[in-house]
Amino acid sequence: MLLDTETAILVDLKTDNFFDPKSQKTYETYIQKAVEYVSGFLTNKDFYSGETPSNLRLKETLLKADPDINLSIEEALTQIKELYLDHTIAFHHKNYVAHLNCPVLLPAIVGDMIASSVNTAIETWDQSTSATLIEQEMIRWVCSKMSLPNTSDGVFTSGGTQSNFMALLMARDDYAFKHYGLNIKENGWSDVVSKFRIFCSEKAHFSIKKNAALLGMGYNSVIPVETDDRMKMKPDALVQAVEKEKQLGNIPIAIIATAGTTDFGSFDPIDTIAKITNEYNLWFHVDGAYGGGYILTETHKNQLSGIEHADSITIDFHKTMFQPVCSSAFLIRDTKYFKYVSYYADYLNPLEHRNDECPNLIEKSIQTTRRFDALKLWFTLKMTGAKTIGSFLEKVHYLTLDLYQHIKDDHYFEIAHKPELSTLVFRYISQGIDNDSIHDTINLHIKNTLFKSGQASIASTKLKGKVYLKFTLLNPKSTIDDLLNIIQMIKTTGQNYTFNN
Ligand SMILES: *Cc1c(COP(=O)(O)O)cnc(C)c1O
Repeated sequence: MLLDTETAILVDLKTDNFFDPKSQKTYETYIQKAVEYVSGFLTNKDFYSGETPSNLRLKETLLKADPDINLSIEEALTQIKELYLDHTIAFHHKNYVAHLNCPVLLPAIVGDMIASSVNTAIETWDQSTSATLIEQEMIRWVCSKMSLPNTSDGVFTSGGTQSNFMALLMARDDYAFKHYGLNIKENGWSDVVSKFRIFCSEKAHFSIKKNAALLGMGYNSVIPVETDDRMKMKPDALVQAVEKEKQLGNIPIAIIATAGTTDFGSFDPIDTIAKITNEYNLWFHVDGAYGGGYILTETHKNQLSGIEHADSITIDFHKTMFQPVCSSAFLIRDTKYFKYVSYYADYLNPLEHRNDECPNLIEKSIQTTRRFDALKLWFTLKMTGAKTIGSFLEKVHYLTLDLYQHIKDDHYFEIAHKPELSTLVFRYISQGIDNDSIHDTINLHIKNTLFKSGQASIASTKLKGKVYLKFTLLNPKSTIDDLLNIIQMIKTTGQNYTFNN
Protein backbone atom coordinates (compact mmCIF):
# COMPACT_ATOMS: atom_id res chain seq x y z
CA MET A 1 0.00 0.00 0.00
CA LEU A 2 2.67 2.44 1.10
CA LEU A 3 4.79 1.52 -1.91
CA ASP A 4 1.91 2.16 -4.30
CA THR A 5 1.38 5.62 -2.95
CA GLU A 6 5.03 6.54 -3.23
CA THR A 7 5.20 5.38 -6.81
CA ALA A 8 2.20 7.49 -7.68
CA ILE A 9 3.78 10.55 -6.12
CA LEU A 10 6.99 10.02 -8.07
CA VAL A 11 5.11 9.82 -11.35
CA ASP A 12 3.19 13.00 -10.63
CA LEU A 13 6.31 14.95 -9.86
CA LYS A 14 7.92 13.83 -13.07
CA THR A 15 5.29 15.53 -15.20
CA ASP A 16 5.62 19.21 -14.69
CA ASN A 17 2.45 19.99 -16.54
CA PHE A 18 0.26 21.83 -14.12
CA PHE A 19 -0.64 25.46 -14.51
CA ASP A 20 1.28 26.63 -11.47
CA PRO A 21 4.24 28.89 -10.70
CA LYS A 22 6.75 26.10 -11.08
CA SER A 23 5.79 25.47 -14.70
CA GLN A 24 5.39 29.05 -15.80
CA LYS A 25 8.03 28.66 -18.53
CA THR A 26 6.51 25.37 -19.68
CA TYR A 27 3.15 27.08 -19.89
CA GLU A 28 4.57 29.76 -22.15
CA THR A 29 6.32 27.22 -24.35
CA TYR A 30 3.23 25.06 -24.71
CA ILE A 31 0.98 27.96 -25.57
CA GLN A 32 3.46 29.38 -28.05
CA LYS A 33 3.85 26.04 -29.76
CA ALA A 34 0.09 25.50 -29.81
CA VAL A 35 -0.36 28.94 -31.30
CA GLU A 36 2.00 27.99 -34.16
CA TYR A 37 -0.14 24.99 -35.00
CA VAL A 38 -3.44 26.83 -34.71
CA SER A 39 -2.00 29.55 -36.87
CA GLY A 40 -1.04 26.87 -39.38
CA PHE A 41 -4.70 25.83 -39.47
CA LEU A 42 -5.39 29.23 -41.02
CA THR A 43 -3.24 28.29 -44.01
CA ASN A 44 -5.38 25.27 -44.92
CA LYS A 45 -6.47 25.87 -48.48
CA ASP A 46 -10.03 24.64 -48.31
CA PHE A 47 -12.72 24.78 -45.66
CA TYR A 48 -12.20 21.01 -45.37
CA SER A 49 -9.54 18.66 -46.68
CA GLY A 50 -12.16 16.33 -48.11
CA GLU A 51 -10.63 13.39 -46.23
CA THR A 52 -13.15 10.54 -46.24
CA PRO A 53 -14.82 9.50 -42.98
CA SER A 54 -13.32 6.02 -43.32
CA ASN A 55 -9.80 7.42 -43.71
CA LEU A 56 -10.33 9.56 -40.63
CA ARG A 57 -11.35 6.43 -38.73
CA LEU A 58 -8.21 4.69 -39.91
CA LYS A 59 -6.07 7.12 -37.92
CA GLU A 60 -6.56 4.77 -35.02
CA THR A 61 -3.21 5.24 -33.31
CA LEU A 62 -3.78 8.97 -33.26
CA LEU A 63 -7.32 8.63 -31.98
CA LYS A 64 -6.48 6.37 -29.06
CA ALA A 65 -5.37 8.12 -25.89
CA ASP A 66 -3.25 5.39 -24.39
CA PRO A 67 -2.92 6.09 -20.66
CA ASP A 68 0.71 4.95 -20.53
CA ILE A 69 2.02 7.20 -23.24
CA ASN A 70 3.75 10.48 -22.41
CA LEU A 71 4.07 12.45 -25.61
CA SER A 72 6.04 15.65 -25.79
CA ILE A 73 4.16 18.77 -26.73
CA GLU A 74 5.63 18.60 -30.23
CA GLU A 75 4.53 15.01 -30.67
CA ALA A 76 1.03 15.68 -29.40
CA LEU A 77 0.67 18.73 -31.62
CA THR A 78 1.97 16.87 -34.66
CA GLN A 79 -0.58 14.16 -34.02
CA ILE A 80 -3.45 16.55 -33.54
CA LYS A 81 -2.49 18.35 -36.71
CA GLU A 82 -2.73 15.13 -38.66
CA LEU A 83 -5.90 13.98 -36.94
CA TYR A 84 -7.77 17.23 -36.53
CA LEU A 85 -6.28 20.53 -37.65
CA ASP A 86 -5.66 19.28 -41.18
CA HIS A 87 -9.19 17.96 -41.56
CA THR A 88 -11.60 19.86 -39.44
CA ILE A 89 -14.03 22.47 -40.68
CA ALA A 90 -12.91 26.08 -41.03
CA PHE A 91 -15.78 28.41 -40.27
CA HIS A 92 -13.77 31.44 -41.32
CA HIS A 93 -13.41 30.11 -44.88
CA LYS A 94 -15.26 32.02 -47.60
CA ASN A 95 -16.75 28.79 -48.93
CA TYR A 96 -18.23 27.80 -45.60
CA VAL A 97 -21.77 29.13 -45.74
CA ALA A 98 -23.65 26.28 -44.06
CA HIS A 99 -24.71 26.85 -40.49
CA LEU A 100 -24.89 29.60 -37.91
CA ASN A 101 -21.16 29.46 -37.21
CA CYS A 102 -19.40 32.78 -37.31
CA PRO A 103 -15.76 33.55 -37.84
CA VAL A 104 -14.47 34.51 -34.40
CA LEU A 105 -12.80 37.73 -33.36
CA LEU A 106 -9.25 37.70 -32.04
CA PRO A 107 -10.09 39.60 -28.83
CA ALA A 108 -12.65 36.90 -28.06
CA ILE A 109 -10.03 34.17 -28.53
CA VAL A 110 -7.74 35.98 -26.11
CA GLY A 111 -10.56 36.18 -23.59
CA ASP A 112 -11.34 32.49 -24.01
CA MET A 113 -7.68 31.52 -23.63
CA ILE A 114 -7.39 33.48 -20.41
CA ALA A 115 -10.64 32.00 -19.09
CA SER A 116 -9.40 28.47 -19.85
CA SER A 117 -6.00 28.93 -18.25
CA VAL A 118 -7.09 30.72 -15.10
CA ASN A 119 -10.08 28.35 -15.08
CA THR A 120 -12.43 30.47 -13.07
CA ALA A 121 -15.63 28.69 -12.14
CA ILE A 122 -18.21 31.41 -12.21
CA GLU A 123 -20.91 29.84 -10.04
CA THR A 124 -20.01 31.34 -6.69
CA TRP A 125 -18.38 34.53 -5.52
CA ASP A 126 -15.75 32.63 -3.59
CA GLN A 127 -14.62 30.92 -6.82
CA SER A 128 -14.75 33.97 -9.04
CA THR A 129 -14.91 37.40 -7.34
CA SER A 130 -14.54 40.04 -10.05
CA ALA A 131 -15.32 37.52 -12.80
CA THR A 132 -18.85 37.51 -11.37
CA LEU A 133 -18.90 41.29 -11.73
CA ILE A 134 -17.76 41.04 -15.34
CA GLU A 135 -20.50 38.55 -16.22
CA GLN A 136 -23.08 40.72 -14.50
CA GLU A 137 -21.87 43.78 -16.35
CA MET A 138 -22.12 41.98 -19.72
CA ILE A 139 -25.67 40.98 -18.81
CA ARG A 140 -26.54 44.53 -17.78
CA TRP A 141 -25.14 45.79 -21.06
CA VAL A 142 -27.23 43.46 -23.19
CA CYS A 143 -30.37 44.04 -21.05
CA SER A 144 -30.01 47.76 -21.61
CA LYS A 145 -29.56 47.24 -25.37
CA MET A 146 -32.86 45.35 -25.27
CA SER A 147 -34.43 48.23 -23.28
CA LEU A 148 -35.46 45.90 -20.47
CA PRO A 149 -36.41 47.60 -17.17
CA ASN A 150 -34.10 48.02 -14.17
CA THR A 151 -35.49 44.87 -12.60
CA SER A 152 -34.07 42.83 -15.46
CA ASP A 153 -31.26 40.35 -15.10
CA GLY A 154 -29.76 37.37 -16.86
CA VAL A 155 -27.16 34.68 -16.93
CA PHE A 156 -24.74 33.20 -19.44
CA THR A 157 -25.79 29.82 -20.79
CA SER A 158 -24.38 27.10 -23.00
CA GLY A 159 -26.51 28.27 -25.92
CA GLY A 160 -29.93 29.12 -27.23
CA THR A 161 -31.22 25.66 -26.43
CA GLN A 162 -30.47 26.07 -22.75
CA SER A 163 -31.79 29.63 -22.71
CA ASN A 164 -35.05 28.50 -24.29
CA PHE A 165 -35.21 25.73 -21.71
CA MET A 166 -34.99 28.26 -18.90
CA ALA A 167 -37.69 30.39 -20.50
CA LEU A 168 -40.11 27.49 -20.75
CA LEU A 169 -39.33 26.32 -17.24
CA MET A 170 -40.08 29.76 -15.82
CA ALA A 171 -43.19 30.17 -17.91
CA ARG A 172 -44.46 26.78 -16.71
CA ASP A 173 -43.64 27.24 -13.04
CA ASP A 174 -44.83 30.81 -12.89
CA TYR A 175 -48.16 29.98 -14.49
CA ALA A 176 -48.65 26.98 -12.24
CA PHE A 177 -47.87 29.06 -9.19
CA LYS A 178 -49.90 32.14 -10.06
CA HIS A 179 -53.02 30.37 -11.29
CA TYR A 180 -53.05 27.13 -9.32
CA GLY A 181 -50.86 27.84 -6.30
CA LEU A 182 -48.65 24.94 -7.39
CA ASN A 183 -45.01 24.81 -6.46
CA ILE A 184 -43.56 22.60 -9.16
CA LYS A 185 -39.98 23.13 -7.99
CA GLU A 186 -40.84 21.65 -4.59
CA ASN A 187 -43.55 19.17 -5.41
CA GLY A 188 -43.06 18.21 -9.01
CA TRP A 189 -45.61 17.21 -11.56
CA SER A 190 -49.29 18.07 -11.48
CA ASP A 191 -51.94 16.84 -13.91
CA VAL A 192 -52.98 20.31 -14.94
CA VAL A 193 -49.55 20.80 -16.55
CA SER A 194 -50.47 18.37 -19.30
CA LYS A 195 -52.99 20.95 -20.49
CA PHE A 196 -50.40 23.75 -20.72
CA ARG A 197 -49.90 25.10 -24.23
CA ILE A 198 -47.07 27.13 -25.74
CA PHE A 199 -47.41 29.01 -29.04
CA CYS A 200 -44.64 29.72 -31.48
CA SER A 201 -44.14 30.07 -35.21
CA GLU A 202 -44.11 26.90 -37.27
CA LYS A 203 -40.60 28.01 -38.26
CA ALA A 204 -39.43 28.29 -34.63
CA HIS A 205 -36.33 26.41 -33.51
CA PHE A 206 -36.76 22.73 -32.66
CA SER A 207 -35.41 23.34 -29.15
CA ILE A 208 -38.82 24.71 -28.18
CA LYS A 209 -40.40 21.30 -28.71
CA LYS A 210 -37.45 19.42 -27.34
CA ASN A 211 -37.43 21.52 -24.18
CA ALA A 212 -41.19 21.21 -23.74
CA ALA A 213 -40.64 17.45 -23.75
CA LEU A 214 -37.75 17.66 -21.30
CA LEU A 215 -39.94 19.76 -19.03
CA GLY A 216 -42.62 17.09 -18.97
CA MET A 217 -45.10 18.97 -21.14
CA GLY A 218 -44.49 16.98 -24.31
CA TYR A 219 -44.07 17.94 -27.96
CA ASN A 220 -47.80 18.30 -28.28
CA SER A 221 -47.89 21.17 -25.81
CA VAL A 222 -46.21 23.29 -28.49
CA ILE A 223 -48.71 24.71 -30.96
CA PRO A 224 -47.12 25.77 -34.25
CA VAL A 225 -48.63 28.96 -35.63
CA GLU A 226 -48.87 29.54 -39.35
CA THR A 227 -46.43 31.90 -41.05
CA ASP A 228 -46.89 34.19 -44.03
CA ASP A 229 -44.93 34.08 -47.29
CA ARG A 230 -42.04 35.90 -45.60
CA MET A 231 -41.95 33.18 -42.92
CA LYS A 232 -43.24 35.48 -40.18
CA MET A 233 -45.85 34.39 -37.68
CA LYS A 234 -49.34 35.56 -38.64
CA PRO A 235 -50.86 37.45 -35.68
CA ASP A 236 -54.45 36.52 -36.58
CA ALA A 237 -53.45 32.86 -36.83
CA LEU A 238 -51.89 33.21 -33.38
CA VAL A 239 -55.11 34.56 -31.89
CA GLN A 240 -57.11 31.80 -33.57
CA ALA A 241 -54.74 29.16 -32.25
CA VAL A 242 -54.96 30.48 -28.69
CA GLU A 243 -58.76 30.63 -28.87
CA LYS A 244 -58.95 27.14 -30.30
CA GLU A 245 -56.82 25.65 -27.54
CA LYS A 246 -58.94 27.39 -24.93
CA GLN A 247 -62.08 25.93 -26.47
CA LEU A 248 -60.49 22.50 -26.32
CA GLY A 249 -60.06 23.01 -22.59
CA ASN A 250 -56.31 23.50 -22.79
CA ILE A 251 -54.39 26.22 -20.97
CA PRO A 252 -52.26 28.69 -22.93
CA ILE A 253 -49.28 29.71 -20.81
CA ALA A 254 -46.72 31.28 -23.14
CA ILE A 255 -46.14 32.81 -26.54
CA ILE A 256 -42.74 32.74 -28.19
CA ALA A 257 -41.76 35.16 -30.91
CA THR A 258 -38.69 34.28 -32.96
CA ALA A 259 -36.36 37.16 -33.78
CA GLY A 260 -34.56 35.63 -36.73
CA THR A 261 -35.66 32.11 -37.56
CA THR A 262 -32.85 29.62 -37.97
CA ASP A 263 -33.65 28.79 -41.57
CA PHE A 264 -34.99 32.02 -43.00
CA GLY A 265 -33.79 34.74 -40.64
CA SER A 266 -37.35 35.99 -40.49
CA PHE A 267 -38.59 38.17 -37.65
CA ASP A 268 -42.00 37.52 -36.19
CA PRO A 269 -43.93 40.79 -35.64
CA ILE A 270 -42.66 41.16 -32.09
CA ASP A 271 -44.59 44.29 -31.20
CA THR A 272 -47.95 42.88 -32.28
CA ILE A 273 -47.27 39.56 -30.60
CA ALA A 274 -46.31 41.43 -27.42
CA LYS A 275 -49.74 43.07 -27.42
CA ILE A 276 -51.55 39.77 -27.97
CA THR A 277 -49.52 38.14 -25.21
CA ASN A 278 -50.38 41.02 -22.91
CA GLU A 279 -54.10 40.72 -23.67
CA TYR A 280 -54.08 37.05 -22.75
CA ASN A 281 -51.73 37.69 -19.83
CA LEU A 282 -49.26 35.02 -20.92
CA TRP A 283 -45.50 34.66 -20.62
CA PHE A 284 -43.78 36.40 -23.53
CA HIS A 285 -40.47 34.91 -24.64
CA VAL A 286 -38.42 36.19 -27.57
CA ASP A 287 -36.02 33.68 -29.10
CA GLY A 288 -33.35 35.97 -30.47
CA ALA A 289 -30.63 33.32 -30.64
CA TYR A 290 -29.90 34.38 -34.20
CA GLY A 291 -31.46 37.84 -34.65
CA GLY A 292 -30.92 39.21 -31.13
CA GLY A 293 -27.43 40.46 -31.97
CA TYR A 294 -28.98 42.67 -34.65
CA ILE A 295 -30.06 45.01 -31.85
CA LEU A 296 -26.60 46.55 -32.50
CA THR A 297 -27.51 47.53 -36.06
CA GLU A 298 -29.27 50.51 -37.54
CA THR A 299 -30.86 48.30 -40.19
CA HIS A 300 -32.69 45.87 -37.92
CA LYS A 301 -33.22 47.63 -34.62
CA ASN A 302 -36.80 48.37 -35.63
CA GLN A 303 -37.51 44.72 -36.38
CA LEU A 304 -36.78 44.05 -32.72
CA SER A 305 -39.08 46.74 -31.42
CA GLY A 306 -41.44 45.27 -28.86
CA ILE A 307 -38.67 43.10 -27.41
CA GLU A 308 -38.64 45.47 -24.43
CA HIS A 309 -41.97 43.88 -23.43
CA ALA A 310 -40.50 40.39 -23.27
CA ASP A 311 -40.57 38.43 -20.04
CA SER A 312 -37.50 36.58 -21.22
CA ILE A 313 -35.05 36.69 -24.13
CA THR A 314 -32.58 34.26 -25.70
CA ILE A 315 -29.49 35.69 -27.37
CA ASP A 316 -26.50 33.78 -28.79
CA PHE A 317 -23.26 35.71 -28.86
CA HIS A 318 -21.66 32.70 -30.54
CA LYS A 319 -23.87 33.29 -33.54
CA THR A 320 -24.02 36.98 -34.23
CA MET A 321 -21.36 38.54 -32.04
CA PHE A 322 -18.44 36.58 -33.48
CA GLN A 323 -17.67 34.69 -30.25
CA PRO A 324 -16.24 31.19 -29.94
CA VAL A 325 -18.73 28.61 -28.62
CA CYS A 326 -20.11 28.81 -26.00
CA SER A 327 -21.23 32.32 -25.42
CA SER A 328 -24.90 32.90 -24.96
CA ALA A 329 -27.31 34.49 -22.54
CA PHE A 330 -30.74 34.14 -21.05
CA LEU A 331 -32.30 37.47 -20.08
CA ILE A 332 -35.24 37.99 -17.81
CA ARG A 333 -37.52 40.97 -17.22
CA ASP A 334 -37.44 40.59 -13.45
CA THR A 335 -34.68 38.95 -11.48
CA LYS A 336 -37.26 37.51 -9.06
CA TYR A 337 -38.12 34.75 -11.54
CA PHE A 338 -34.75 33.15 -10.92
CA LYS A 339 -36.35 31.71 -7.79
CA TYR A 340 -37.66 28.92 -10.04
CA VAL A 341 -34.12 27.63 -10.60
CA SER A 342 -32.34 28.71 -7.43
CA TYR A 343 -31.07 26.20 -4.92
CA TYR A 344 -29.13 26.78 -1.75
CA ALA A 345 -26.50 24.16 -1.10
CA ASP A 346 -24.82 24.10 2.29
CA TYR A 347 -21.40 23.55 0.79
CA LEU A 348 -21.64 26.24 -1.89
CA ASN A 349 -24.14 29.00 -1.27
CA PRO A 350 -26.00 28.55 2.00
CA LEU A 351 -29.08 30.74 2.22
CA GLU A 352 -28.04 32.18 5.56
CA HIS A 353 -24.87 33.57 3.97
CA ARG A 354 -26.67 35.31 1.14
CA ASN A 355 -25.05 38.65 0.55
CA ASP A 356 -25.87 41.04 -2.28
CA GLU A 357 -22.39 42.43 -2.16
CA CYS A 358 -20.97 39.02 -3.11
CA PRO A 359 -23.57 37.34 -5.34
CA ASN A 360 -23.48 33.66 -6.24
CA LEU A 361 -24.46 33.29 -9.88
CA ILE A 362 -25.34 29.65 -9.32
CA GLU A 363 -28.69 30.95 -8.07
CA LYS A 364 -29.51 31.97 -11.64
CA SER A 365 -28.23 29.01 -13.58
CA ILE A 366 -29.32 25.45 -14.21
CA GLN A 367 -25.62 24.54 -14.37
CA THR A 368 -23.31 24.26 -11.39
CA THR A 369 -19.69 24.39 -12.53
CA ARG A 370 -19.71 26.94 -15.28
CA ARG A 371 -17.14 28.53 -17.57
CA PHE A 372 -16.33 32.21 -17.51
CA ASP A 373 -17.74 32.78 -20.98
CA ALA A 374 -18.46 36.44 -20.39
CA LEU A 375 -14.77 37.28 -20.56
CA LYS A 376 -14.51 36.86 -24.32
CA LEU A 377 -17.46 39.19 -24.84
CA TRP A 378 -15.82 41.72 -22.51
CA PHE A 379 -12.62 41.64 -24.60
CA THR A 380 -14.66 41.98 -27.77
CA LEU A 381 -16.63 44.97 -26.55
CA LYS A 382 -13.48 46.63 -25.24
CA MET A 383 -11.35 46.02 -28.31
CA THR A 384 -13.77 45.76 -31.24
CA GLY A 385 -16.73 47.66 -29.88
CA ALA A 386 -20.46 47.20 -30.24
CA LYS A 387 -20.72 49.65 -33.12
CA THR A 388 -18.24 47.72 -35.23
CA ILE A 389 -20.00 44.44 -34.47
CA GLY A 390 -23.23 46.08 -35.61
CA SER A 391 -21.57 47.14 -38.86
CA PHE A 392 -20.33 43.57 -39.46
CA LEU A 393 -23.91 42.36 -39.14
CA GLU A 394 -25.19 45.03 -41.49
CA LYS A 395 -22.50 44.02 -43.95
CA VAL A 396 -23.50 40.34 -44.00
CA HIS A 397 -27.13 41.34 -44.33
CA TYR A 398 -26.45 43.50 -47.39
CA LEU A 399 -24.26 40.78 -48.81
CA THR A 400 -27.19 38.39 -48.56
CA LEU A 401 -29.51 40.88 -50.25
CA ASP A 402 -26.96 41.40 -52.97
CA LEU A 403 -26.75 37.68 -53.61
CA TYR A 404 -30.54 37.52 -53.68
CA GLN A 405 -30.61 40.26 -56.34
CA HIS A 406 -28.04 38.39 -58.39
CA ILE A 407 -29.83 35.07 -58.51
CA LYS A 408 -33.51 35.87 -58.16
CA ASP A 409 -34.12 36.08 -61.90
CA ASP A 410 -31.79 33.24 -62.78
CA HIS A 411 -33.94 30.40 -64.13
CA TYR A 412 -31.52 27.90 -62.61
CA PHE A 413 -32.75 28.90 -59.16
CA GLU A 414 -35.98 29.04 -57.27
CA ILE A 415 -35.80 31.33 -54.26
CA ALA A 416 -37.81 30.60 -51.12
CA HIS A 417 -37.90 34.10 -49.68
CA LYS A 418 -36.49 37.59 -49.81
CA PRO A 419 -33.82 37.54 -47.08
CA GLU A 420 -34.50 39.55 -43.99
CA LEU A 421 -31.30 38.74 -42.12
CA SER A 422 -28.32 36.84 -43.52
CA THR A 423 -29.66 33.53 -44.78
CA LEU A 424 -30.81 32.75 -48.27
CA VAL A 425 -32.84 29.63 -49.03
CA PHE A 426 -33.10 28.54 -52.66
CA ARG A 427 -32.98 25.49 -54.84
CA TYR A 428 -31.25 24.54 -58.01
CA ILE A 429 -33.61 23.82 -60.87
CA SER A 430 -32.44 21.40 -63.52
CA GLN A 431 -33.73 22.72 -66.80
CA GLY A 432 -36.34 20.63 -68.52
CA ILE A 433 -37.20 18.61 -65.44
CA ASP A 434 -40.60 18.94 -63.87
CA ASN A 435 -40.41 16.52 -60.98
CA ASP A 436 -39.89 17.67 -57.41
CA SER A 437 -38.31 14.51 -56.15
CA ILE A 438 -35.67 14.64 -58.90
CA HIS A 439 -34.97 18.25 -57.96
CA ASP A 440 -34.65 17.12 -54.34
CA THR A 441 -32.15 14.44 -55.30
CA ILE A 442 -30.07 16.82 -57.40
CA ASN A 443 -29.98 19.50 -54.70
CA LEU A 444 -28.80 16.97 -52.12
CA HIS A 445 -26.27 15.68 -54.61
CA ILE A 446 -24.92 19.22 -55.05
CA LYS A 447 -24.64 19.79 -51.33
CA ASN A 448 -22.93 16.45 -50.67
CA THR A 449 -20.58 16.64 -53.63
CA LEU A 450 -19.34 20.12 -52.72
CA PHE A 451 -18.85 19.12 -49.09
CA LYS A 452 -17.04 15.88 -49.79
CA SER A 453 -14.63 17.50 -52.18
CA GLY A 454 -13.87 20.30 -49.74
CA GLN A 455 -15.08 22.87 -52.24
CA ALA A 456 -17.92 24.44 -50.28
CA SER A 457 -20.16 23.76 -47.33
CA ILE A 458 -23.80 24.63 -47.90
CA ALA A 459 -26.72 23.63 -45.72
CA SER A 460 -29.99 22.15 -46.85
CA THR A 461 -33.46 22.35 -45.40
CA LYS A 462 -37.02 21.58 -46.35
CA LEU A 463 -39.86 23.88 -47.21
CA LYS A 464 -43.31 22.44 -47.93
CA GLY A 465 -41.70 19.02 -48.27
CA LYS A 466 -39.18 20.14 -50.89
CA VAL A 467 -35.41 20.17 -50.45
CA TYR A 468 -33.74 23.58 -50.57
CA LEU A 469 -30.16 24.74 -50.23
CA LYS A 470 -29.29 27.32 -47.61
CA PHE A 471 -26.56 29.93 -47.32
CA THR A 472 -25.98 31.34 -43.84
CA LEU A 473 -23.71 34.34 -44.24
CA LEU A 474 -21.84 35.47 -41.16
CA ASN A 475 -18.49 36.44 -42.60
CA PRO A 476 -18.29 40.20 -43.12
CA LYS A 477 -15.09 39.76 -45.12
CA SER A 478 -16.80 37.70 -47.82
CA THR A 479 -17.50 39.48 -51.06
CA ILE A 480 -20.27 39.01 -53.60
CA ASP A 481 -17.70 37.44 -55.93
CA ASP A 482 -16.85 34.84 -53.28
CA LEU A 483 -20.53 33.95 -53.13
CA LEU A 484 -21.08 33.96 -56.87
CA ASN A 485 -18.16 31.59 -57.08
CA ILE A 486 -20.06 29.12 -54.88
CA ILE A 487 -23.19 29.71 -56.96
CA GLN A 488 -21.17 28.77 -60.04
CA MET A 489 -19.98 25.57 -58.31
CA ILE A 490 -23.60 24.74 -57.58
CA LYS A 491 -24.58 25.20 -61.21
CA THR A 492 -21.66 23.19 -62.53
CA THR A 493 -22.30 20.35 -60.10
CA GLY A 494 -26.00 20.41 -60.91
CA GLN A 495 -25.33 20.35 -64.64
CA ASN A 496 -22.85 17.51 -64.28
CA TYR A 497 -25.34 15.37 -62.41
CA THR A 498 -26.01 12.17 -64.28
CA PHE A 499 -28.99 10.02 -63.56
CA ASN A 500 -27.05 6.82 -63.09
CA ASN A 501 -25.28 8.36 -60.08
C1 LIG B 1 -29.44 28.31 -33.05
C2 LIG B 1 -30.76 28.58 -32.50
C3 LIG B 1 -31.15 28.05 -31.26
C4 LIG B 1 -30.28 27.08 -30.51
O1 LIG B 1 -29.14 27.70 -30.04
P1 LIG B 1 -27.84 26.86 -29.61
O2 LIG B 1 -26.89 27.92 -29.21
O3 LIG B 1 -27.41 26.10 -30.84
O4 LIG B 1 -28.24 25.96 -28.51
C5 LIG B 1 -32.37 28.43 -30.76
N1 LIG B 1 -33.18 29.25 -31.45
C6 LIG B 1 -32.86 29.77 -32.65
C7 LIG B 1 -33.81 30.68 -33.35
C8 LIG B 1 -31.63 29.44 -33.22
O5 LIG B 1 -31.30 29.93 -34.42
